[in-house]
Amino acid sequence: MSRSAEFFQRAQSSIPGGVNSPVRAFKQVGGTPVFFERGQGAYLWDADHKQYIDYVGSWGPAILGHADPEVIHAVCDVAKHGLSFGAPTEAEIILAEKVKALVPSIDLVRMVSSGTEATMSAIRIARGYTGRNKLLKFEGCYHGHSDSLLVKAGSGLLTFGEPTSPGVPADFAKHTLVAQFNDLDNVEELFKAHGDDIACVIVEPIAGNMNMITPKPGFLEGLRKLCDDYGSVLIFDEVMTGFRVGLHGAQGLYNITPDLTTLGKVIGGGMPVGAFGGKKEIMEKLSPLGPIYQAGTLSGNPVAMAAGIVTLDKIKAPHFYEKLARKTSRLMQGFQDAATQAGVPLFTRSVGGMFGFFFSDKEINSFQESTACDVERFKKFFHLMLHQGVYLAPASFEAGFVSAAHSDQDIEQTILRAADCFNKLAS
Ligand code: PLP
Repeated sequence: MSRSAEFFQRAQSSIPGGVNSPVRAFKQVGGTPVFFERGQGAYLWDADHKQYIDYVGSWGPAILGHADPEVIHAVCDVAKHGLSFGAPTEAEIILAEKVKALVPSIDLVRMVSSGTEATMSAIRIARGYTGRNKLLKFEGCYHGHSDSLLVKAGSGLLTFGEPTSPGVPADFAKHTLVAQFNDLDNVEELFKAHGDDIACVIVEPIAGNMNMITPKPGFLEGLRKLCDDYGSVLIFDEVMTGFRVGLHGAQGLYNITPDLTTLGKVIGGGMPVGAFGGKKEIMEKLSPLGPIYQAGTLSGNPVAMAAGIVTLDKIKAPHFYEKLARKTSRLMQGFQDAATQAGVPLFTRSVGGMFGFFFSDKEINSFQESTACDVERFKKFFHLMLHQGVYLAPASFEAGFVSAAHSDQDIEQTILRAADCFNKLAS
């Protein structure tokens, strides 16, 4: 029995399902989750000392690769002076200033400890600011696990959402409206029916939780206009795309100014950090300036701030995103060519350091199209790649990530291994 298998068995006696976040359990792909021991740069080593080229990057934060020496040095240095004070430190100001400089739509920003907290708090402030109840989200977009957001579309086009998890009261879900990503007409209809009670629209500007779906031209612009017309707050959830698809996030790429932005993952460089921020007149409503309550014992934690500060400094290096985008697009082109050669239908895309590949012969632009892809093929491909020492996200609805530490050789090596796996899939 492998050590990963032993650990998984042991973990299940004390941790629900053996994991602290469900996707880690390999439920969709089957088999035993890999337990990791260490990471360095583009590589991970598991508990059995097998090496992998990693394309999960801790689900996005590891944009510099694992254990970046400068990040580790900063974290260790700060840790020597105390792990947490629950009182303000200069590091919080420095990180906030850096975030503001990189994301110009943010006038004021508050640090939290996860993406879930960031989106939950952004929604509360949007509701408090507008005095309205409803939020509009998109099917297939994930914004963390708070009650209002664990909601899927109801049975009729204009009906209220239904909880996707027991424990979320239908009374909460009824305030969540669910529209289809890339379908502006659908959003418009919901606004026509409920516009005067819609506090906010929350959207992943590039959807990374239904594989990877980019916005059609005009979609994000249309959301901006509808929010302006109806006095609703537009929230870009850039927990995944922030500092990942470009230095100024998806809003920089598409040149759209949301009212609020949520951040996470890269901003903490691997430490538990999230943030939400935006227009001064909205953020000023937050306690202690205003009446809307939000707080956190470990928010702005000095060790986490240190990791974030170094990470945001390093991503400003000249040509950082050009190089990252070139490697990521080469990886996807390599997958595409290899799959075509093997006769396996595949559709790929990438933006910056984020990528997605779909087992389909069509371009994928919606949740329905994404969920219709060949999951069985994905499962086989995942395990073939895992066997070959390539760690991909263990679920077909997750985006993948390339880091600055991936070398051209790592990318070419991955393509060679993928070619072999596509051939095996076809045979
Ligand atoms: N928003 C987006 C777009 C995400 O991808 C995620 C997590 O994957 C979250 C929010 C929630 O972040 P966290 O897992 O840090 O709570």
